[in-house]
Amino acid sequence: MRIILMGPPGAGKGTQARRLSESTGMKHLSTGDLLRAEVTAGSELGLLAKGFMDRGEYVPDSHIISMIHKSIADPAGVLLDGFPRTVVQAESLDESLENAGLGIDKVVHFAVDTDELVNRLSSRAVCSDCQTPYNLVSDAPSKEGVCDKCGGLVIVREDDKPEAIKTRMCVYEEQTAPVLDYYRSRGEVSEIIATGTPDSVFEKLSQAIGSGV
Ligand code: AMP
Repeated sequence: MRIILMGPPGAGKGTQARRLSESTGMKHLSTGDLLRAEVTAGSELGLLAKGFMDRGEYVPDSHIISMIHKSIADPAGVLLDGFPRTVVQAESLDESLENAGLGIDKVVHFAVDTDELVNRLSSRAVCSDCQTPYNLVSDAPSKEGVCDKCGGLVIVREDDKPEAIKTRMCVYEEQTAPVLDYYRSRGEVSEIIATGTPDSVFEKLSQAIGSGV
């Protein structure tokens, strides 16, 4: 099964993808996580990507496409989180899947209104090691700056700072909203209202995906 989770920054795709991956064994492919690992490793791609990411802009398509395509046919099934984000990426994904004799089983759109997204992103922190997300207002780590799960350093991402949040919202509208239309025109999108507790969103997601998972 190949499932695409779509939605604006802060919609909760990563949290739900991790959870779904744990419960189903499907591979969680997050281009954001892959890029952050490249930045931490100080690789050539990481050095190139960092500037775009810190400003809240997209990393050029060619780098993203080559990074993701080798994992797309994973036999465990794949949960795509944060990819495709442009129509060029979506077309290229279609081409790779077609060459592998595969398709997309479901596209799920996480809908959350903009005020709520800005609130969530402005109070978000994340473990720099295991990527566990925290909300510094309602769900802070028990010891400041230390991940409850792995003891790693909890940080506020550069792109969760106010200027970058604004840019990310605009870039999403300009470049990723058309991807949603691309899949909608093929009737492949299930909508979920991704507000409420993580448990209730997981429930909606499971229903949207159906009994195949
Ligand atoms: P995320 O963790 O998904 O919010 O991604 C963090 C940042 O990584 C984004 O703001 C972009 O700069 C970059 N990024 C992640 N995925 C993509 C993608 N599919 N295309 C271009 N840039 C991406």
